[in-house]
Amino acid sequence: MRVTEVLEQIDEVCQQYDKPKPLVICVSKTYPCCAIEEAYSYGMNDFGENKVQELLEKIEQIDLPINWHLIGHLQTNKVKYIIDKVKLIHSIDSIKLLNEVNAQAKKHGIISNVLLQINVSKEESKYGFYEEELDNVLAHVTTLTNVQVKGLMTIAPFVENPHDNAKYFSRLYEIYVDIQKQNLDNISMEILSSGMSNDFKVAIEKGSNCVRIGTAIFGSRQ
Ligand SMILES: *Cc1c(COP(=O)(O)O)cnc(C)c1O
Repeated sequence: MRVTEVLEQIDEVCQQYDKPKPLVICVSKTYPCCAIEEAYSYGMNDFGENKVQELLEKIEQIDLPINWHLIGHLQTNKVKYIIDKVKLIHSIDSIKLLNEVNAQAKKHGIISNVLLQINVSKEESKYGFYEEELDNVLAHVTTLTNVQVKGLMTIAPFVENPHDNAKYFSRLYEIYVDIQKQNLDNISMEILSSGMSNDFKVAIEKGSNCVRIGTAIFGSRQ
């Protein structure tokens, strides 16, 4: 477990670039519940999973007041299982999914907090909206009664040199600020979720305030 080391590295970057400390989400996919409990004992409260089934099993097994984050692609037919169990859905990537989250949130009498996933690098294999689609998506969000968009999320390409991703993190930040200025109903830009084990330092330098870190904390996945 390298929680302390990672938090130290984050502190260093924040000092170097004069940035506020980001929210650190421990990405616990594939790791056992005891790893989550250990990270929790170090003061970590936010955990991210990318599969609904695995998330539900862990929620069932772990009796701690954890903030759970759904960070992976979410199928519309599975929204109903997690809607009242997660703090934030990071991976809204279609209007259809937005509509289902809104409908299920309404059923439960809650407002669901979500991020829009943006495919900034335009990799075909990646989920997320292209920035060209955003005006339509935002206009649609303003019509929803039970969804609050809290910010944006991206998954940058896997690269050898994390600095190659700086341009994508910077672009995401520009989009974030631009949306912030528009002051739209149901949309507040508070969370910019970008940066993983390989590139969290560059992401923070370029404006991320929420990093999602798995292997750097827990070790490599099988
Ligand atoms: C797995 C995953 C992460 C964490 O990846 P690491 O490289 O292990 O830090 C972050 N975000 C998402 C969406 C993931 O699926």
